[in-house]
Amino acid sequence: AQALDRAQQHAALNSFISLQPEAALAHANSVDANRRAGRDMHALAGIPFAHKDIFCTKGIATTCGSRMLRGFAPPYDAQVVERLAAAGAVSIGKTNMDEFAMGSSNENSAYGAARNPWDAARVPGGSSGGSAAAVAAGIVPFATGTDTGGSIRQPAAFCGITGLKPTYGRVSRYGMIAYASSLDCAGVLARSAADCASVFSAIAGHDGRDATSVDRPLEDVQALLPRPLRGLRIGLAREYFGGGVDAAVAAQVRAALAELEKLGAVLVDISLPSAHHAIPAYYVIAPAEASSNLARYDGVRYGHRAADARSLDELYSRSRAEGFGAEVQRRILVGTYALSAGYYDAYYLRAQKVRRLIALDFAAAFEQVDLIAGPTAPTTAFRLGEKSDDALAMYAADVNTVAVNLAGLPAISAPAGFVDGLPVGLQLIAPAFAEARLLNAAHQLQ
Ligand code: GLN
Repeated sequence: AQALDRAQQHAALNSFISLQPEAALAHANSVDANRRAGRDMHALAGIPFAHKDIFCTKGIATTCGSRMLRGFAPPYDAQVVERLAAAGAVSIGKTNMDEFAMGSSNENSAYGAARNPWDAARVPGGSSGGSAAAVAAGIVPFATGTDTGGSIRQPAAFCGITGLKPTYGRVSRYGMIAYASSLDCAGVLARSAADCASVFSAIAGHDGRDATSVDRPLEDVQALLPRPLRGLRIGLAREYFGGGVDAAVAAQVRAALAELEKLGAVLVDISLPSAHHAIPAYYVIAPAEASSNLARYDGVRYGHRAADARSLDELYSRSRAEGFGAEVQRRILVGTYALSAGYYDAYYLRAQKVRRLIALDFAAAFEQVDLIAGPTAPTTAFRLGEKSDDALAMYAADVNTVAVNLAGLPAISAPAGFVDGLPVGLQLIAPAFAEARLLNAAHQLQ
């Protein structure tokens, strides 16, 4: 009930697309009854939280930030939704996001932009901006998110909280609306690494309903949180501190790394030579997969349907023109172009080769170090409207995050202080399935 009150008090942040007060209170009461009956409870039982509106919730509107899915109530729950409900965590609503998770500022939402609690004139980041704003404002202690190219880490950095993007395949994508299937990852945004660890252990694990879900035992991430950092080798990737990265942000991140050094970590300078190819490769591969995933919104089976269409073609084109926003349409156009006969080899195939080089860069670096560090985002939160007319400037906000998705690795953004009163995030990247190492380091920093 208190979380719902706080959501009302902070309504101006527009961090929620919908709230479900009745369902939340009913769930909270049943968890309470179980507790009073003396049943064994999960650590998350009774804790309020929120789901990004990309996760299918049975009988509850799931819009994915799009007009296309306004009023769509899925007939089933996503695996992440099932897992958290089974743990007894109480979802109070669905958070705001860029349409189909395409964006870095939340301004692409069909339900209006969410705002940054540190400065309401600024963006919370995206695409999981509503989740980040709701956690940073203290409405809920954690929220789910998804990360295809940075959508958990970048908003966590902009809002001064912790965001964990797990290894690809570690958390099931079942019931998570697809953007770019080979990159999409479900994860968590919370106030601390310890909270991320409890939620991660609740949602991670094999699921036969997602063909890319990995069947491999889970480390006890919570037990490993207090492990001393002595001897941990952290690689400072030169490329992540250069180019478009704001000097004050870079300095602040170096200061946070100096703290880790005091705790016993060893800082090593490294290089990821293919880093500058990550943005171009990502912005071919992600739109290509998106154009294919979004073909299902045809106005026939579900989603928005244009009125009074006189032919099937007109029904398709008008439903899609009315249902999808400008950025989604741009990605569909770029993606279908990159996949079309005659251009496939030059764009899509080339981008896949670059993707391999990027993965090899990381593999070589992890022969030398245990973790790789850099600023999560090149700047602090920018102003609403500042980049919304310039797609390329917006894409540059992902310069340090997209390579991780191309390589399928886990990464975390942890709070690393402030520049001019705005939060800065430190990104740590680990080898596949080493989430425990990330959470351990981020926990020690706090
Ligand atoms: N900002 C990136 C994009 O627009 C990443 C989004 C995401 O991770 N979902 O594609």
